[in-house]
Amino acid sequence: MTGDPTDTTVIVDCDVATMIGGWGEIRDAAIVIDGERIAWVGPRQELVPPAGSMVRSAEGRWITPGLVDCHTHLVFAGDRAAEFERRCQGASYEEIAREGGGILSTVRATRAATEDELVDAAAERARWSVRRGVTTVEIKSGYGLSLDDELRLLRAARRVGELVPVDVTTTLLAAHTLPPEYARDRDGYVRLVAEEIIPAAAALGLADRVDAFCEGVAFQPDEVAIVLESARRHGLRITLHADQLSDLGGAALGARFGADSVDHLEHTSLAGIRALAAAGTVAVLLPGAFLALGETQHPPVDLLRQHGVPIAIASDANPGTSPVGDVPLIAVLACRLFGLTPLEAVAGLTVHAARALGLGAEVGEIAPGRRADLAVWEVSHPRELAYWIGGDLCAATWYRGRPVWDRAG
Ligand SMILES: [Zn+2]
Repeated sequence: MTGDPTDTTVIVDCDVATMIGGWGEIRDAAIVIDGERIAWVGPRQELVPPAGSMVRSAEGRWITPGLVDCHTHLVFAGDRAAEFERRCQGASYEEIAREGGGILSTVRATRAATEDELVDAAAERARWSVRRGVTTVEIKSGYGLSLDDELRLLRAARRVGELVPVDVTTTLLAAHTLPPEYARDRDGYVRLVAEEIIPAAAALGLADRVDAFCEGVAFQPDEVAIVLESARRHGLRITLHADQLSDLGGAALGARFGADSVDHLEHTSLAGIRALAAAGTVAVLLPGAFLALGETQHPPVDLLRQHGVPIAIASDANPGTSPVGDVPLIAVLACRLFGLTPLEAVAGLTVHAARALGLGAEVGEIAPGRRADLAVWEVSHPRELAYWIGGDLCAATWYRGRPVWDRAG
């Protein structure tokens, strides 16, 4: 406690899901916030309000930890709606690629945009999330694919965190796809990533983590290993896109490098799951991409449960394969498409997502000492977050101890 009563707020008239050991339900609860941190949470009848504190009523609503979107590609220019329309008309991926579509069309548009344009567009997308209870968001680069462009995307991501009341974790994903100028020199591009882009991003403090797309259509495990070695050498944490379209052993590769999380995992084998469990790596499932791509291979949820691998879920918000603008909807998709329970889905957007970003001691639960990042919901129980297919359930969002959005204005 700071001891300054003017900086202490007590929220009452609320039910709380702390997300500790399950829902962690406390009916008729109170939350004491001291500065940016939670000082106390418990039944209101046990509350001893600090003298001089400001009391606010949540008018009987439910409060959960602020949501954590632990996998996004929010910094990009343009969109792929016209390409989606072509696919709906029956065009194949090959035809769309011949017409100039696909991921490289986003790379072209992003390279052509100024940093300010990228910041404005990404900040607007982050504001959509704040209005839906999100207080922490991970943002990857990956549409620049050159030293200057990747650094520009990371700088843009950092600036989003200064403009919008949301905590931003930045992830360098230069190993997303091969840029056209290196189409005949894969080794050269992997060297550029490992020997120039990662060291520069680390030296400038622009990246918290490094990611790579380990997949037949992207980078092979031996190429990914070179990238991850460099990340480790430069003191950056690691995450990985793995086993989405095929099993290249990406989960085990990520686990070997001590990844915070390995993401997608539709094709992960039992050996991969055992490796995740042994390493304490979080499995991040991305049902938006599964839906948008019309995938049929489900991630091995039962095996992840059996081996005690924590499961997080995320929007994977990106213009090509997961144009998701509604983070709570991901909880619905995780239940309907992957068979998660509502508790698993909400834990996947809070406590486990925080852990996936290495922020488990900071956010994701409502407990003394955690950051006072909260989402206030107009529901009769938070399981409704995984039930309504769309809707307007978020009543308010608190970030670092302050209300930063309120539906009532
Ligand atoms: Zn992704």
